[in-house]
Amino acid sequence: MTSDQTHVIVGAGLAGAKAAETLRNEGFDGRVVLVGAEDVRPCERPPLSKDYLRGEVGRDKVYVHEEDFYAEHEIDLLFGRSAVSLDTGRRELALDNGERLRYDRLLLTTGAEPRRLSIPGADLDGVLYLRSVGDSDTLRARLDRGGSIVVVGAGWIGSEVAASARQRGLEVTVVEPASVPLERVLGPELGAFYRDVHTDHGVRLLLGTGVEAFEGSQEVARVRTSDGGELDCDLVVVGVGVEPRAELARQAGLAVDNGILVDEHLQTSVTGVFAAGDVANAYHPFYGERIRVEHWANALNQGPAAARSLLGGSDAYERLPYFFSDQYDVGMEYTGFARSWDRVVFRGDPATREFVAFWLLKGRVVAGMNVNVWDVTDAVNSLVRERLPVDERRLADPDVPLDAVASPAGGGVS
Ligand SMILES: Cc1cc2nc3c(=O)[nH]c(=O)nc-3n(C[C@H](O)[C@H](O)[C@H](O)COP(=O)(O)OP(=O)(O)OC[C@H]3O[C@@H](n4cnc5c(N)ncnc54)[C@H](O)[C@@H]3O)c2cc1C
Repeated sequence: MTSDQTHVIVGAGLAGAKAAETLRNEGFDGRVVLVGAEDVRPCERPPLSKDYLRGEVGRDKVYVHEEDFYAEHEIDLLFGRSAVSLDTGRRELALDNGERLRYDRLLLTTGAEPRRLSIPGADLDGVLYLRSVGDSDTLRARLDRGGSIVVVGAGWIGSEVAASARQRGLEVTVVEPASVPLERVLGPELGAFYRDVHTDHGVRLLLGTGVEAFEGSQEVARVRTSDGGELDCDLVVVGVGVEPRAELARQAGLAVDNGILVDEHLQTSVTGVFAAGDVANAYHPFYGERIRVEHWANALNQGPAAARSLLGGSDAYERLPYFFSDQYDVGMEYTGFARSWDRVVFRGDPATREFVAFWLLKGRVVAGMNVNVWDVTDAVNSLVRERLPVDERRLADPDVPLDAVASPAGGGVS
């Protein structure tokens, strides 16, 4: 090594592991330390609610890198180790074994953790959450026993667990306070599409319904719902969203508000300290505001972008949000970020389960979702980026290429 600098990454998930890889790819030859609280090497999480959970693929599918990658690239992977405090004045990090690590640059990729319910019975055995490989292993073992499962929350994790449990032959009931699944992100039209997908696969959906308590002597045996109902079950999975793991940053005095606040270069309020992935609430030049994205592609790309910033690069991170989900035989990709919209336009019939949906605001596409239609994300990305007014009839017509749907009267929006 010719550099005597040490760069430390806290959080050995996808963002952290890809950042470490990027430091080496960019030619940094000082010390790289990757600290991770989990007792396994860095993992990808999407399979944990899908094929890995169903037992269709093994551990190899979930690791970000081959086992010897870290040694081969001289990355000191300290897994099973937590960073417990940070002193940005001394540029020093304390680990849970008492070790102190001095750094020149620091990257925080501490991710997010499931929001916990604090209702009666929340600590009973069999009330499970899903984030880590270990969580997925525990859940898989419970699914192997069969029986009936109640899924609390019809967001992405809840919906995917419901689908996987159904595919494994369990009786599945989903309890969700909103009027359709995935309503917060997708709205009523596309939420209704997912409602029908689940109902067609035999899932019982209790919509507009909350959960009051879990009951049982040691193991959960029953769920009490807000409408006074009781659901017998062998198992509960709670999927009611995640919280960014920003405690280390907050205690160190970094600016934190719905995650660690970072600028477009992913630098925090303290020079030389960066954040990326689920934990980062990042200023996005395209949207002109901060957004925190809890999706795989964001961790995959923001980790490397933060590593380049940490080495002195000056590129802003401005990729559009993108995510995917697989439920039964319904695969989808979503591009963009629709906080509000006034129209949803369909290209294709949702009943055929092959279509593209577009969310429009004032005649411009703000997001698009392709369902069982592939190779269109670049075109959807361009539509969102260009912000050109579109002709709704052309947008809805599968015979019109997506790069030819601009309204003839159109002009850009600054
Ligand atoms: C079951 C599941 C399925 C998903 N499916 C999809 C999908 O289909 N599509 C999609 O787009 N996204 C999906 N996601 C979301 C995606 O996996 C996340 O956005 C991504 O994992 C975020 O990566 P990250 O590296 O930012 O954080 P994480 O993956 O959360 O990694 C952060 C790591 O930091 C560690 N850590 C935290 N604090 C400390 C500390 N103080 N010291 C040391 N280590 C620490 C944590 O233990 C963790 O290992 C899914 C998520 C889950 C849980």
